[in-house]
Amino acid sequence: MNFELTKEQEMTRKMVRDFADGVIRPRAIEIDVNAEFPKDIFDEMGKLGLLGIPFPEEYGGSGGDTVSYALAVEEIGKVCGSTGLSYAAAVSLGASPLYYFGTEQQKQQYLTPLAKGETLGSFGLTEPNAGSDAGGTKTRAVLEGDQYVINGEKCWITNAKYADTITVTAVSGKREDGRNIISAFIIPRDTPGMKISSPYEKMGVRGSNTCEIILEDVKVPKENILGDPQGGFKQFLHTLDGGRISIAALAVGIAQASLDKALAYAKERKQFGKPISDFQAIQFKLSDMAMEVELARNMVLKSAWLKDQKKSFTKESAYAKLFASETAFRSANQAIQIHGGYGYMREYEVERYLRDAKLLEIGEGTSEIQRLVIARQLGC
Ligand SMILES: Cc1cc2nc3c(=O)[nH]c(=O)nc-3n(C[C@H](O)[C@H](O)[C@H](O)COP(=O)(O)OP(=O)(O)OC[C@H]3O[C@@H](n4cnc5c(N)ncnc54)[C@H](O)[C@@H]3O)c2cc1C
Repeated sequence: MNFELTKEQEMTRKMVRDFADGVIRPRAIEIDVNAEFPKDIFDEMGKLGLLGIPFPEEYGGSGGDTVSYALAVEEIGKVCGSTGLSYAAAVSLGASPLYYFGTEQQKQQYLTPLAKGETLGSFGLTEPNAGSDAGGTKTRAVLEGDQYVINGEKCWITNAKYADTITVTAVSGKREDGRNIISAFIIPRDTPGMKISSPYEKMGVRGSNTCEIILEDVKVPKENILGDPQGGFKQFLHTLDGGRISIAALAVGIAQASLDKALAYAKERKQFGKPISDFQAIQFKLSDMAMEVELARNMVLKSAWLKDQKKSFTKESAYAKLFASETAFRSANQAIQIHGGYGYMREYEVERYLRDAKLLEIGEGTSEIQRLVIARQLGC
């Protein structure tokens, strides 16, 4: 067994780390405070090829692998959860379904500009009454002549305001057994009838753009159906399996940042005449944080590696997402505790880590849903 990264993976990590430290870190507080989507940072990330890491060069990608992509998400997440979430969603949700399921024409037309970072993509699955039960979608697509007419509503869609390509799921018919057929449709940004709301006010990941999408008689040509018209349900399950690796990587980034800040502070802060890192109660917190970050990272990299090897990774990506997101929340909480009152102040950043980490226990399948996925994989 080889736990070493390849030369390319090391290079990607270093390049993203340098970019994150130099360009994103100095902006992280203002991105959170102003709830400001950093469009200019995404333009630069596009030029560096970060939006296309896991896609082949023939579709505008960098020809990297899932492990490299996970390392990139971790590095960005370590400095800014908002940028990390929008990055993970752009690649895993906006672009990946087009790569997995798109026709050659769809890949050329829609995936290539996304992978080059010239545009951003979004994935609209969740609705006001269909969250964990995403198969319960109420959005409808009706075939009229050569085009589908789509009506419905999607909520909490990441990057929607800045996306040029939005893929949405909708019921497109009924099976013989009466169950709904779900299909996915590619909707270009300026399609009449698609309205994107102002961003929601959020607790954390505040600089990640999140909007509602209203679809009123939105017409798209038949060719805009993504892959198998009957396969929308399976498509989104597979897309979410992959997306979970990136949410887990983002969680590792936040957990590592929490540990780094807490350790540095503990060595510096003196009470009772000595650094608080001399107290065993603080040491034990730091030990647990360090161990959990490393375990979470190992699970992320294992699930990414399995995906790269084209082996089954459904259970492992659920393990990674569940464990890493809960680790991030615990680590951020402990980092605040180690900082005492200072930790409660915005300036010290650890309170932002906690607010950002909370989202990771909810988005792309809540912790409860991850436990359900794992139980199903166990044969329950
Ligand atoms: C900031 C943000 C960004 C997002 N970005 C996107 C995006 O880009 N695209 C997109 O499609 N969606 C997105 N979402 C939506 C997200 O995926 C959903 O919020 C999530 O899947 C949970 O759905 P829900 O909020 O409707 O909760 P619900 O499904 O209503 O769940 C409520 C509670 O019930 C629990 N629960 C539900 N069913 C079960 C069950 N069977 N067993 C046990 N417990 C259960 C849940 O775990 C949860 O605790 C985003 C959400 C947020 C907050």
